[in-house]
Amino acid sequence: MTSLRFIILLLQLWTVCAWEDYKDYKVLELQPRDLAQQQLLLNLDREQPQWDYLGGRRSATDTSRRVLVAPQQLQQLQQQLQLHGIEYKVLLEDLAPHVRAQRAENLSSKAKQRTHRIDVFAAFYNHSEINAYMESLVQLYPKRVQLKTFGWSYEQRALKILTISNGDGRRNKPVIFIDATIHAREWIAPSFALYIIQQLLEQAENADLLLNYDWVIMPVVNADGYEFTHSDSRFWRKTRKPTPIEEHIGTDINRNFGYKWGDDAGSSGDPAEEIYRGEQPFDQPETQVLRDALLHYKDRLAFYLSLHSYGNYLLLPWGHTSSFPDNYFYMMEIADAGAMAIIQSTNGIYSYGSGYHLMYPTSGDSNDFAVALANATVAITMELPAGGFLGFDPWVTHIEGIVTESWVGVRAMALEVISRGYQ
Ligand SMILES: [Zn+2]
Repeated sequence: MTSLRFIILLLQLWTVCAWEDYKDYKVLELQPRDLAQQQLLLNLDREQPQWDYLGGRRSATDTSRRVLVAPQQLQQLQQQLQLHGIEYKVLLEDLAPHVRAQRAENLSSKAKQRTHRIDVFAAFYNHSEINAYMESLVQLYPKRVQLKTFGWSYEQRALKILTISNGDGRRNKPVIFIDATIHAREWIAPSFALYIIQQLLEQAENADLLLNYDWVIMPVVNADGYEFTHSDSRFWRKTRKPTPIEEHIGTDINRNFGYKWGDDAGSSGDPAEEIYRGEQPFDQPETQVLRDALLHYKDRLAFYLSLHSYGNYLLLPWGHTSSFPDNYFYMMEIADAGAMAIIQSTNGIYSYGSGYHLMYPTSGDSNDFAVALANATVAITMELPAGGFLGFDPWVTHIEGIVTESWVGVRAMALEVISRGYQ
């Protein structure tokens, strides 16, 4: 065996070993009877960070919650559920074959592709593939596309932001700013960001969206976490920077922003939790990059849209308090335009309103920061539809349906912002 082949073999073995196969992990569906039980589940979620409760709902009327549970945690969870009289069923006895099948689907689908252009419907792409694609757009559309590295992730991945204009040379237009992949496992979000980029660059019917506005798009904020979901652990959420407690890695970027940071009702100071806020506000390089980018457009930020999954929500500020921003009803009208366009197009149902009231309190999130400190006129967190067993894991065959529906909503919201003029 040549030394090169030996190194390749070692690398392959390492890849196999690194991959978390989720053997005997179960997916439970919990069915709270009433609001009191729903609240109890939220409390259990906070008290038992080792159980990964999966946010969102599967449809507009769905009150059930799914939880991913490791084999060694199952008995304890079942005891708690029985103690509180919460009904549940085991949806999936073993997650491993599902994760394996999805991984195989994605890899074989990618292997069939021959062109350099990313086919959004055909696969999920990793961070370096997305960066390479964005670089190719600079060559293809030199007058319309700018690509800037705003900074670097903890593991030194380039965090790139794409600006799309219509190429008329006018500077300092108001901006529609879209980010995706603040949470690593929400794979449909970067796919949708790529679809938006292609719509704006390739479809003449969208010229009106670029007449007086530039679009600024950051498809992957949490580059390390996202890469980790491709290479190691499909359902990772946080960043990959170590915390003060050795066995717990990563911080929730969406609790790490320095506006109303640190409130225990909307975040956690415990590194074991999925909503860990970090030691200090902005102590994650990825949060710093998104902060700097938003502040860069502070004087012309017409619309900030953050793409997440899942649950079919359009979440407005505030997350940290039950009160509302001054122009809340204006923001509601923008969200209404998106939700109505979607229901007319596909019968997809979105709920919209303040994140605090519609979901739960969040402190230190990007939406609140964008409005309070980066002067965004409108800020919306869009929770895209669920897919797959856990909600974060749609099959490749479902990408087209989700992103085309979602584009109808985003286009309608952008047109509503544009028709009212930058305020
Ligand atoms: Zn998210």
